[in-house]
Amino acid sequence: MNEYDSNRIYDSVKRIGFEKTDNYEDANCYLLNTCHIRDKAKEKVYHEIGRVKKIFRAKKKPLVIVAGCVAQAENQEMLKREPYIDLVIGPQAYHKINDTILNYTEKQKIEETDFDAVSKFEYLSRIKNQSSESSSFLTIQEGCDKFCNFCVVPYTRGPEYSRPFKQIINEAKNLADQGSKEIVLLGQNVNSYKYNGFKLSDLILEIEKLNQIQRIRYTTSHPKDMTDDLIDVYKYSKKLMPLIHLPVQSGSDKILNLMNRKHSIKEYLNVYEKLKKINSCIEFSSDFIIGYPGEDEREFNQTYNLIKELKFINSYSFIFSPRPGTVADKLKLIDKKKSLKRLKKIQSLLFKIQIKKNKSLENKLLKVLVENKTKDNKRLFGRSEYMTAVILEGKEDYVGQTVNARIISSNQNSLFGKIDQSNNKKVA
Ligand code: SAM
Ligand code: SF4
Repeated sequence: MNEYDSNRIYDSVKRIGFEKTDNYEDANCYLLNTCHIRDKAKEKVYHEIGRVKKIFRAKKKPLVIVAGCVAQAENQEMLKREPYIDLVIGPQAYHKINDTILNYTEKQKIEETDFDAVSKFEYLSRIKNQSSESSSFLTIQEGCDKFCNFCVVPYTRGPEYSRPFKQIINEAKNLADQGSKEIVLLGQNVNSYKYNGFKLSDLILEIEKLNQIQRIRYTTSHPKDMTDDLIDVYKYSKKLMPLIHLPVQSGSDKILNLMNRKHSIKEYLNVYEKLKKINSCIEFSSDFIIGYPGEDEREFNQTYNLIKELKFINSYSFIFSPRPGTVADKLKLIDKKKSLKRLKKIQSLLFKIQIKKNKSLENKLLKVLVENKTKDNKRLFGRSEYMTAVILEGKEDYVGQTVNARIISSNQNSLFGKIDQSNNKKVA
């Protein structure tokens, strides 16, 4: 979501004359968009500002802006602790960015951290989303009312807010007209989207009507909001990708309860089975928090066994990180060495599953959306339907096209192959 936000901030500040630069030693404004989900985020920001200070020691100081969730959580504190920072702007106040910059004077530092998602999206919808990527993000929902005991999101992104249906469809049309072939719908709880009776399932089916759009994804979902209407979309949709990122966090009901997750393993498995029944090729990825206070060998083994059973792909796993202001911040931590050992065990299992999955695709033909050229400009970078990175031999003309690719080799994170000419006559 920060990537989407950064692009939208750029769409806005362009109007007052800013241009992106790769030579940031020459920049006259430096904006740091920050994430607060796990520990050390705050320290990383100060560290980064320290680096900027050094770069600009002998030059005119740039305007330094800290945006995002660290800005929201720390607000005035940041301006006090690091006078090099000029403006602090929280994630629901980006509609004020241009005025804030224009009104800034060296004598008065500014902090904008109101929660005003309505005004933000009204403002941003009047400014064209200029993304010209083959795969574009589109935020449909922000904030969260679920208050899991470990999570800062309800405090930094604010209460749940769903954007108006039409506003989203207009942005999707716009992205399609600019060349997007894939739309990734975003929200902290993307499947809790509701606006005047419209749900995520309605949005998917409406976006599906856009001819230029070939692929639709959404992230991140909460298991409790995997309602039957959304599950049923997998029966009809031709464009919804068969990978569902559905964080479970733990395989133990006891831990889920301590986390205030509001779903049980049985409920999670129920969703899993319903979807597999519709299409057995659907795969799941997840997030896991390891070493949550109260996690014993028994609970940890339940998580391990759940991964073994469901064979999640492309998952994320983290050691629990206490966040200021959350309920879990005050809980007694389990031994760090133990958590680390458990994390390694979980990751080794997740990686093994991923390597095996990728290996099984060798010699097969896959549909790949070619997104761009690789950094060295020599090959093409694309993604499979399951979001796996695919590196291909082939000409630049294929960028923006979905091609059939023969997979030749693989490793844990990527597949390598070549475009199958015989199968791509129509698109080549
Ligand atoms: N809304 C989604 C859900 O409920 O499943 C998750 C969104 S959250 C922004 C992204 C992920 O960060 C979570 O799934 C969780 O695994 C991880 N996370 C959040 N707070 C954390 C914490 N305090 N320590 C470790 N990981 C955390
Ligand atoms: Fe955080 Fe997701 Fe829980 Fe909301 S539902 S509090 S975003 S982990």
